[in-house]
Amino acid sequence: MEMVLETKSLNKVYGRKKVVDDVNLNIEKGSIYGLIGKNGAGKTTIMRMIAGLAFPTGGDIRLFENDNINSGRKKIGCVIENPAFYGNMTGYQNLLYYNKMMGVKDNSNIEELIRLVGLDPYDKKKTKHYSLGMKQRLAIAVSLVGNPEFLILDEPINGLDPTGIKEIRDIILKLKNEKNITILISSHILGELEKIATHYGMINNGKLIQEFSADKLDTLCRRYVEIKVDNTQEAANILASELNIEGIEVIDNEIIVPQGVYEESLLNKTLALKNIYASTITIKGQDLEDYFVEISGGVK
Ligand code: ATP
Repeated sequence: MEMVLETKSLNKVYGRKKVVDDVNLNIEKGSIYGLIGKNGAGKTTIMRMIAGLAFPTGGDIRLFENDNINSGRKKIGCVIENPAFYGNMTGYQNLLYYNKMMGVKDNSNIEELIRLVGLDPYDKKKTKHYSLGMKQRLAIAVSLVGNPEFLILDEPINGLDPTGIKEIRDIILKLKNEKNITILISSHILGELEKIATHYGMINNGKLIQEFSADKLDTLCRRYVEIKVDNTQEAANILASELNIEGIEVIDNEIIVPQGVYEESLLNKTLALKNIYASTITIKGQDLEDYFVEISGGVK
């Protein structure tokens, strides 16, 4: 497995407070890594240290399996804190400026970048008149100047409405799937994170309390599928034999299927092909937010 980021005992002390405490993060190439934590847990500080915007008090940061951190940082793009735009310039003009700053001589990337984030390259609107969602999208376009392989996004959907959130989500998925960019993202909206993240790191009081893949989340959240049917035993036997599922339980008029790779639609189709029709198929158990609250011991 190729690693994009590994931190070893990463620490940051402000005054007398250890705000990042011996954090060992491991981010694989091609992943969308969701960093989760309460306000003040230390997420932004971790991201700033990785991007080179803050000095670690101790510990190591290794990028792209290379000990030369400066060469690694050249392959990082980030949106941390409010991006600085020139309000009297258009999005296109701002990108021209950032191209120049980054030493990109060929400006033919600008149109593609602006379109990639769903904005219009020929829009004459000055950025001071942009909505929050447009600003966030332009900030992502700016972070892509220089073709980064690793993108760090701190709370990119904060304050956006549901449409804006979906737009950013689609951009993130596009960057991963079409450009193979690895993404580290923090968000308070765990339900949203759950739709895109492939891995998670949970931070509490500066400590990394858990790191796990999205596949493992089902087990950690003790998820299962509950199917209501009339002929429960027959339906359970069919699922067990047709889909090779182990551990199915029958309780009254319900079947309990441990959740794994079985999509509800596949369970439904398998039963329907044998003329058994479920009245409901529901996923039960915790979601990411419930799980986080449980293991971090209290309110978010
Ligand atoms: P939020 O989601 O609220 O931004 P966070 O998890 O990103 O939270 P950080 O911003 O990393 O948390 O802050 C972690 C702790 O470090 C907080 O207690 C914060 O007050 C403190 N802190 C951050 N930056 C500084 C600084 N420059 N000087 C002193 N303390 C700081």
